[in-house]
Amino acid sequence: MPLELNDIFVTPDSSLAVDECFVYDDLSAEGEQLSATPVRVKGQVSNSGGLVELRYTAEFSYSKPCDRCLVMAEKSVKQNFVHTLALSAENEDNDDIIIVAGYTLDLFSLVRDDILLEMPFKHLCSENCRGLCPTCGQNLNEGSCDCKKEAVDPRMAVLDELFSD
Ligand SMILES: [Zn+2]
Ligand SMILES: [Zn+2]
Repeated sequence: MPLELNDIFVTPDSSLAVDECFVYDDLSAEGEQLSATPVRVKGQVSNSGGLVELRYTAEFSYSKPCDRCLVMAEKSVKQNFVHTLALSAENEDNDDIIIVAGYTLDLFSLVRDDILLEMPFKHLCSENCRGLCPTCGQNLNEGSCDCKKEAVDPRMAVLDELFSD
């Protein structure tokens, strides 16, 4: 599903609406397969005075086990992207320029690269996730276990008390 951009490049002040829904079955992050919803892509390619830009918003959600407690956690993503499109590389220093060979843009691949680059490094079910007890494996979000109490020095317990909410 390449985008044909011939008209946009040759017609100043023209624009083309982009409204797609892409299904990726090979999305992965940190070597882990993601189960993701189709990615809604909305935006436009515009030529303003010879500068051709692609602006779009990608919207989807994905599920992956929480890094701390391993429970499946779903995240919704809504992210904006802007790329300058060019027919050839005139300024090789600019990484943001996408070279559109033969006036066609492989939007499907571009969107996949964009969203994978923006994937957060850490995936948590919530900012306050307490994770699993390293001793017994109890999910500490669901309840506490007895391991900690036995191991903690009474003087440390006082500090624990002070810092807990
Ligand atoms: Zn968690
Ligand atoms: Zn425990």
